[in-house]
Amino acid sequence: MSQTRSELAVLGMDCAECTLHVRQAIAALPGVRGVEVFLAAEKAVVDYDAAQVDLPAIRKAVQSAGYQAPAAGAGEDVSESLAQTSARFGRAVLWVLGLVFGAVLLVVVAGEWLGLFEAVTARVPWPIGWLIVFVGWVPVLRNVIAAARRGQATAHTLMSLGVLAALVVGEWTTAAIVVFFMRVGDYVEHFTAERARRAVKDLTALAPKQARVLRDGVEAMVAVDQVAVGEVVVVRPGEQIPVDGVAVEGSAMVDQATLTGEPLPAEAGPGTRVFAATLVRLGSLRVRAEQVGRDTTFGRVIRMVEDAERHRADVQRLADRFSAYFLPFVGLIALLTFVLRRDPLATAAVLVVACSCAIALATPIAVLASIGAGAKRGLLVKGGKYLELLDRADVLLIDKTGTLTLGQPQITDVVSLDGMTPDTLLALAAGAERYSEHPLAEAVRRASQAHGQELAAPSHFEALPGFGVRAQIDGRQVTVGSRRILAGGPLPAQAQGLEADGKTLLYVTVDGQPQGVLAATDTIRPEVPAALAALRGLGIERIELLTGDNPRTAAALAEPLGVAYQAELLPADKLEVVRRYQAQGKTVVMVGDGVNDAPALAQADVGIAMGAAGSDIAAEAAHVVLLRDDWALVPEALRIARRTMRVVRTNIGYTLVYNLVGLTAAALGWLSPVFAAVAQSIPDLIILANSSRLLRQK
Ligand code: ADP
Ligand code: MG
Repeated sequence: MSQTRSELAVLGMDCAECTLHVRQAIAALPGVRGVEVFLAAEKAVVDYDAAQVDLPAIRKAVQSAGYQAPAAGAGEDVSESLAQTSARFGRAVLWVLGLVFGAVLLVVVAGEWLGLFEAVTARVPWPIGWLIVFVGWVPVLRNVIAAARRGQATAHTLMSLGVLAALVVGEWTTAAIVVFFMRVGDYVEHFTAERARRAVKDLTALAPKQARVLRDGVEAMVAVDQVAVGEVVVVRPGEQIPVDGVAVEGSAMVDQATLTGEPLPAEAGPGTRVFAATLVRLGSLRVRAEQVGRDTTFGRVIRMVEDAERHRADVQRLADRFSAYFLPFVGLIALLTFVLRRDPLATAAVLVVACSCAIALATPIAVLASIGAGAKRGLLVKGGKYLELLDRADVLLIDKTGTLTLGQPQITDVVSLDGMTPDTLLALAAGAERYSEHPLAEAVRRASQAHGQELAAPSHFEALPGFGVRAQIDGRQVTVGSRRILAGGPLPAQAQGLEADGKTLLYVTVDGQPQGVLAATDTIRPEVPAALAALRGLGIERIELLTGDNPRTAAALAEPLGVAYQAELLPADKLEVVRRYQAQGKTVVMVGDGVNDAPALAQADVGIAMGAAGSDIAAEAAHVVLLRDDWALVPEALRIARRTMRVVRTNIGYTLVYNLVGLTAAALGWLSPVFAAVAQSIPDLIILANSSRLLRQK
């Protein structure tokens, strides 16, 4: 078995139905195990057995379904070639199109009222009329026939039956007008899909394309994907940093707005970690590449936005299912109209008025528009599903260290017991913490260094996730951690006062005997109180702090913020808290800094990872990724979710009502086919306008 996953570009898909056609065409090939098709990213991801089928065969299947599947050029990124295809539509174009369309509508409606079309039908010989109809109709018919061969019907299949009916009863002008509106509808769909894609394309356009690499002491301009990990690139003022890496020389102000939305440039010099797609404003840098191309943080952001369609919202599925049942339903109504009322024109009107295209397209655009707008501000939502869940959220759980606090604690007190000097205690603790990545470990090492101490090298080290570390130093076993390491033993007298101050206590034992306590303080992120207030205003009914720290410290932080807390939790306990709320039917949002919170973040309905630029674990586990450490983005995510879902629901509700009214009127013969054609094109436009509002979010 040679299981392979490949990604290929698929162009020409303008509707949700199109992705279905492409999916079915690929899935029908022998050896294909799974396929996902993305409308906005214009790509298909295929899992297949390379022994049975290959990429050229898959491309051919896509082409025979009526779409293009260009092979990406050598070394060329698929998404990059996509960024160049198909023109951009500006707002000005939208206005002009809207005006032209409005004028045409008026003329058609007025013409029908005044009976002009009947006059035209009477005067112009029918073969000329039929010719006009067929010229416009052929491209549509070709698709309808191709779909029919695959055993599928599309919205245009029904409308084409309507055209046929009109021709048969000798109303060729009616047929021509219906064809005209079908083409207009196609165009609007194409336009709409294109707008939706902008979310992805605008981001792709920001990706660095070239890099100035230092090779044998000479600078050479190369394409970004030609840079190897470990090479040094030179970045001049005003240029984009082409890779993720560490500055090795120079100094500069780096503007990270493209990546994180953070407007203030930050200083960078030797040792600073810098990210691809950010800009060097002042000064210049030499950067050693650690990640290039798709592996950079920015590359992953693009990929996540591209793949956002994978996590579809339930309403999106509803819209898909709606289209699937809608066509047979309309077919049935048309049949009944024909049989019961024997009125071919009313039947044609029924076939023409029904419109499910807009609804299938409306949700993805709304969702993608929001995701794209968010991504530009450092707020990455991995799919429509999470917007939907955020919209419904009622419980917010917050991790303490690194999430609620800055995660840069300082050691403030060193209290030793029984004869050991504070210096010895600190040195032992720092040695034990040598290999720990926890922010508290770093604080202990820093304090020890500040006292001019050498860091001891433990002969054995073990992390105790969620409560401390254990290490072997000079034959003695040293543990540092929360109260848990005392295993229920008595607390030193000084501990209580320190805890009440909101300090985090690190107990130190040597060979099982308590030797003292270190106290650390960490600062609450300054924007937290305002963000929590905003979240309450948005209807979050319960906010709870979850921490592995002791209850007093937790209370000292939580109470001033007016939030509940649970203390002394291990990572697995945090997971359990999430589950318990979910079992009560709550929609749980968890905000964490990702590293030891990953299980709880993944379990939450929406896991939000703070400050994920550069951290894989956080970005993988969470559903929403904040590229910048800014709590204001959390209520912002909720607001975006609310707005998006409101638009989606309006679109769906509107389409339903519109179709019901339209179908009824047509079946009863109150709507001529011409009016029906006019009527069916209107929801497309309204939905397009409604969803486009989201693209314009500031
Ligand atoms: P939080 O839940 O607040 O993010 P953690 O779960 O990471 O915190 O840690 C909980 C508690 O365990 C800390 O408050 C500290 O007392 C202790 N602890 C965890 N890791 C370490 C470590 N490396 N050194 C000392 N103490 C630690
Ligand atoms: Mg934490």
